[in-house]
Amino acid sequence: MPKRVLVGGIWHETNSFSPVKTDLDAFRRYLYLEGEAVISGSRGTNTEIGGMIAAAPDAGLELIPSIYIGAAPSGMVSREVIDLLLARLKADIETAGKLDGVLLALHGAMVAEGIDQADAHVVQAVRDIIGPDMPLVCTIDFHANVESALVEPADVLIAYKTLPHVDMGARGEDAARIISKLIASGKKPHKVFRKLPIITVPQRQPTHESPMREIMAELAEVERDEGILTASVIGAFAYCDVPQLGMAILAYGEKDDAEAAAGRLADAVWSRRAQFKPDLVLPDEAVRRAIAANAGPIFLVEPADNIGGGAPGDGTHLLKALLEGRAREAATVIWDPAAAKAAAAVGVGKRFKGKVGGNTLALHGEPVEIEGTVTFAQAVSYRRDSTWMTGQPADLGLVATVDTGGVKVILTSERAIPFDTLHLRIPGVEPEKAKIVTAKCASAWSGIFGKMAEGHVYVDTPGVCSSNVERMPYTRLERPFYPLDPDTQYP
Ligand SMILES: [Zn+2]
Repeated sequence: MPKRVLVGGIWHETNSFSPVKTDLDAFRRYLYLEGEAVISGSRGTNTEIGGMIAAAPDAGLELIPSIYIGAAPSGMVSREVIDLLLARLKADIETAGKLDGVLLALHGAMVAEGIDQADAHVVQAVRDIIGPDMPLVCTIDFHANVESALVEPADVLIAYKTLPHVDMGARGEDAARIISKLIASGKKPHKVFRKLPIITVPQRQPTHESPMREIMAELAEVERDEGILTASVIGAFAYCDVPQLGMAILAYGEKDDAEAAAGRLADAVWSRRAQFKPDLVLPDEAVRRAIAANAGPIFLVEPADNIGGGAPGDGTHLLKALLEGRAREAATVIWDPAAAKAAAAVGVGKRFKGKVGGNTLALHGEPVEIEGTVTFAQAVSYRRDSTWMTGQPADLGLVATVDTGGVKVILTSERAIPFDTLHLRIPGVEPEKAKIVTAKCASAWSGIFGKMAEGHVYVDTPGVCSSNVERMPYTRLERPFYPLDPDTQYP
């Protein structure tokens, strides 16, 4: 008889510096699966639950679907979302009949209204319902901010091992195999959790580049040890002002092996801490360098306004520098529904003059006045054509392009996360023919534009996802913390 395991979860990366609240509607628009749809909507996908479904037959599991929801990275999650999720999980656990375990797919950096440690709150609530003995295994994102309150109620936490993230399915398969082992043995593994007082930024976290490449190689070696069930090195999410921020190590298995593995992985991170420092250039200098290169395209990458990290995407510091620096053959994208509508109303071929961007946060700059010819005005939606999130639908709403003579400003009504080339091509910019192209992201740009780029500069603008952590107004970290306090000691 297969073992009966309930499956569900919630996925949200919360940028606590962003004022854009994440309500139930944001979840309904992005990912909202209930009952059988959890299985039918996840089967065959490279997601955690897709992996659990794929591994279930060999692991001897029958999956009982409950609820699985997610929303795009943004600000604080509404309390009603957490309450709804827990009510559904509780009802499904209570009516499922005999259960042998629970699998949850989580992010680990979710913050909700009145709940700093929202993932821990969910896992503890489920533990309280199922009691102390039933196996409970969770997957989490590489950007989780892990803490004891999350580690304690879960028997095992399994984090992604890649950035850009490509191993969600593989980690879901791990979770299915591991819970099957726990059910069969009736034993709980020894767990070791180490928190490191270091903040690292997405720009320096890709796992195919130093220093994470070497650290992940060490992790792979540690996991070859027979005494280790699973281990994780977690990069954490820097844009969350919570006490549990910071990189973390998890190791599960036999006591001595897990202790040794965690110590070795913590050393691997801490000894490389200086290598996590990003290269950053101020906007005026970045524009000057891009113009001086006199080749193209040069990508000006702006991690501080990283839409994928929850930033608004309407920052104007870089646009201002492009206009003042008299950049030519440049293109940039700004989220501004009102300006897109106003420019579209003027009409293609006509002149538009008006302020754009800078609507969400003073930190991201003032609205900037632009003047030029409207060259495109219509609604834009498509499926992503690039290596990352391929096939996912993208909807930019009404889009208008204003050509100022030097800079083509693409104004969008929905936030255009730069995971494809179509958000530029459809509104009239061929990126390979431009001299300068901006990207409001941290590392994902290189997968899509790396091959066509003649060069790139990471720009140091103020913003809620700044790679310059000195700029972030943390109030709740327990100091000292590296690199804010360069002399921080560990352990
Ligand atoms: Zn992530």
